[in-house]
Amino acid sequence: MTKIPCGIHLLSWDRLCMPKSVGGLGLIDLKLQNTTLLLKWLWRLYDNPDSQWSLVVRQLYGKRDRVIAPIHWNQEGSFFWKDLLKLRTYFQLFAKHKIKDGADTSFWFESWGISFLSYFGFHKHPLMSRKNIHMSLRDAIIHPFKFFSAPFTAELNSILCQAQQVCISEGRDNLFWNCNSDGHFSVASTYKRMKMAGKTRYKYENIWKLKTPPSLKHFLFYVSLGRILTQDQLLKRGIHINPRCYMCQQQVLEDAEHLFCQCVLAKEIWGRLRITSWATNSVQNMCQALHSCNSGLSQFEKTIICSAIWTLWKERNSRIFRDTTRTSQALHDWIVQEATLFMKFC
Ligand SMILES: [Zn+2]
Repeated sequence: MTKIPCGIHLLSWDRLCMPKSVGGLGLIDLKLQNTTLLLKWLWRLYDNPDSQWSLVVRQLYGKRDRVIAPIHWNQEGSFFWKDLLKLRTYFQLFAKHKIKDGADTSFWFESWGISFLSYFGFHKHPLMSRKNIHMSLRDAIIHPFKFFSAPFTAELNSILCQAQQVCISEGRDNLFWNCNSDGHFSVASTYKRMKMAGKTRYKYENIWKLKTPPSLKHFLFYVSLGRILTQDQLLKRGIHINPRCYMCQQQVLEDAEHLFCQCVLAKEIWGRLRITSWATNSVQNMCQALHSCNSGLSQFEKTIICSAIWTLWKERNSRIFRDTTRTSQALHDWIVQEATLFMKFC
């Protein structure tokens, strides 16, 4: 076998930072964590506009008394302020306005039914002018003639018609943060929402709940993704090896399917363990059996499968790197003993 270089990466860093529910390891993505922590400041600016911090910021950077849509903010300022400005699209995406009197909601730049932002970003709408750029939703409903010149175009009439349909009442507008069911901002829920956007769920999520040590769960995770360093994976990474299975001594290209299911030694061990054959005839079936609550397997049988996969992998490595061999009977006894310990202590 050619010498294997150090530092083979089984998964990308981005994938490792995904939550476990979408097939990652749940490591913290510090850049995204920082983004969500900064979003919290924007939330505070809106959610508690009378707080001392909010009053100071609005005095320094705002241009109107009540409407605080980002378009009205000063684009210059401290690094902290500029970092906040970069996040305004994220903020507008997740913060929905609950309209009361409509005075705190920007007609053009905040979502009140029509989301101009989704069409134009922070660019100008053709109907926008110096006269009406700062108007609130309340202004558009109560004094449309003050902000738009007659005659009104069909498009403007249509937009104002939709504004008229918004019910306004006493009280100040407030925000609903749609990453959280209670509508309040939280760093954890926002981080999760942004990290999981567009990702599909990991189909074997329950392997993280098995009664096995964490190191074995991690190993099963990589097995389920087909990322353990069997000969086929080494070849994909440009490491050339003479095809050979060190378990059955056959000239075959070793892959996870062969090592854990098709190899003569693997079959012999599964036979000795008396695990139902559908659960052990492919890696996919094994993962499905470990994940499913309706597989018909007891918790102990699942732990036996985990221990067997783990033991086969360690035996394979012992045969390659230490030139030591155990019989199938010895491996069977070890698997049962180990599984019993896992059931007791994990
Ligand atoms: Zn083999």
